Amino acid sequence: MLDTPHPTPAGVTLDERKLAAALSGLHFIGGRYVPALSGKTFEVVNPATGEPVAKAAEGDAADVDAAVRDAARAQKEWAKMPARKRGALVHQCAALLKEHQEELARLIALETGKALRTESRVEAGVVADIFEFYGGLGSELKGESVPFAPNVLSVTVREPLGVVGAIIPWNVPMLLMALKVAPALVAGNTVVVKSAEEAPLAVLRICELMNRVLPPGCFNMLSGFGPECGAPLVAHPLVRKVTFTGSVETGKIVAKAAAEKLVPVTLELGGKSPMIVFADCDFAKTVQGALTSMRFTRQGQSCTAASRIYVERPIFDRFVAEMKKAVDAMVMGDPLDEKTDIGTIISPGQFEKVQAYIEEGKRTPGAVAHECSALPKDPALKKGLFLRPVIFTGLTKESRLVREEIFGPVTVIQPFDDAESVLAEANDSDYGLAASLWTNNLKVALDLAHRLEAGLVQVNQNLVVQANLSYGGVKSSGLGKEASLEAMLEHFTHKKTIMVNMG
Ligand code: ADP
Repeated sequence: MLDTPHPTPAGVTLDERKLAAALSGLHFIGGRYVPALSGKTFEVVNPATGEPVAKAAEGDAADVDAAVRDAARAQKEWAKMPARKRGALVHQCAALLKEHQEELARLIALETGKALRTESRVEAGVVADIFEFYGGLGSELKGESVPFAPNVLSVTVREPLGVVGAIIPWNVPMLLMALKVAPALVAGNTVVVKSAEEAPLAVLRICELMNRVLPPGCFNMLSGFGPECGAPLVAHPLVRKVTFTGSVETGKIVAKAAAEKLVPVTLELGGKSPMIVFADCDFAKTVQGALTSMRFTRQGQSCTAASRIYVERPIFDRFVAEMKKAVDAMVMGDPLDEKTDIGTIISPGQFEKVQAYIEEGKRTPGAVAHECSALPKDPALKKGLFLRPVIFTGLTKESRLVREEIFGPVTVIQPFDDAESVLAEANDSDYGLAASLWTNNLKVALDLAHRLEAGLVQVNQNLVVQANLSYGGVKSSGLGKEASLEAMLEHFTHKKTIMVNMG
């Protein structure tokens, strides 16, 4: 369905720099690439070298208006299509994304600095999986018949909300975009996405690929800054649902703006996720589990990163020593190199923010900073935003490093003596996104799992978002769920009641 000719290569393109350059200066609106109406652009930088790799279109309210109007036009026809047919098209998109997995992985590694082998390739695979999962759910958009009176047929039907405005961050932009776009589309909505200013390229390419399958206007992509492009999208009168992933501060601004129009919002806002390790755990597996839980391969730039680790006192010292050894063995380097485990921080601003936390931790009396791994030696990477992971011990619960989301490769390990006290500490947080428990005593694990204030609790594992499992937090971690059937039904449709009096 894509208008041709268009500026990007049609086939799988493994030259990520060439593809980045071809994607320069463009939004994707109404089935075609278009520049920003103002003609403005901003630079996209490779955080591993500091070099600009592309220019992104700098969207503003005029671009938002054009995209939303196109999406509103397209939505009327899209909603008329049988839900299973919509699902089948989304399924076809998933197949196309699978074909382009390696291309997308290389592109996202280039713009975000996330290592290809450990992160970027994984994300590109999960994205296709999310579209595939939702593509199969079209026939679940069904209603109920409701007993009312013998001569009255009373039924409910699921109807789409209209145009969905989706705002995404830079840490896993393709995946977080998929969690919003896939259910929205299958449910009969059309979507305008505002990408994160640090990572606009891979999601733009995905939008183009999917527009080869979808009718024009169903899926639109804008790039630009938050206040100039995100805010007008949230405020646009034709946007009937807002879905947002990002910081708590911005989430509150978005929720207030949506409240002005009385449209529903889904918010995924981050966390300070506790990992609780009991002395009876499977020790070696749990040390490895701490590495994955802390998302060190993503430089800790994850809402579910286990940035508070509580270890039962008898194994505390051994656990810290083994964890440090394991993180030391991780290779930091060029994100596109297959040997690399750990890439870079996304941007200079984020780098400074994380460093400030590390400095504050180091200055705290009694604290010990265990700096791990080694910075890359390659001179080509000397301007790269590489930051050594830090494991802190000796910090108390009053520390900002224990209370605030750092969004970097920094975790704090604290000892505990009993289940009740560690539960109280774990719950003593503004956040409530995820938690994990590591023990062979499943009775204790299940009891604590019920009492932990978190949207997702895992025992003896700590996986990232999975299709079919509801994902989303409580407290300041957000509102609403993603990734599941319920997420589609509850957040992207409304239930209409129809009553027919046959008396
Ligand atoms: P981060 O600090 O991780 O960049 P933000 O919450 O600021 O987190 O950004 C997440 C997304 O929200 C980005 O796409 C950003 O452009 C967008 N954004 C920022 N400010 C606003 C705003 N006022 N209205 C709508 N979107 C915004």
